[in-house]
Amino acid sequence: MRTKRDNVYKINRQGGYCSVCGAYMQNPQFAHKIANRDDYRRKYGSVIIDDIDNGEMVCCNRCNDAVNIGNKPAEVYRLCIRIYTRKLREMGLK
Ligand SMILES: [Zn+2]
Repeated sequence: MRTKRDNVYKINRQGGYCSVCGAYMQNPQFAHKIANRDDYRRKYGSVIIDDIDNGEMVCCNRCNDAVNIGNKPAEVYRLCIRIYTRKLREMGLK
């Protein structure tokens, strides 16, 4: 589950700049790569939808839209694999 603290970590990791347009973020927002929608939540699971790696911090709604990969199935599956692989690594497994 992603927390406010996770968002702050992500903002800091991006140096305070929007991951899409590069502008300094006055009002950062978390932009989901796989959107936070009921159908995607059913399809991919909350483990994926709520993961910190399922998104970027961006400056505005326009940049938020640019992060969406919901209509790119191959990218969605690559992201799921990356998240699951990271979770295995965090458990000390491969
Ligand atoms: Zn932006």
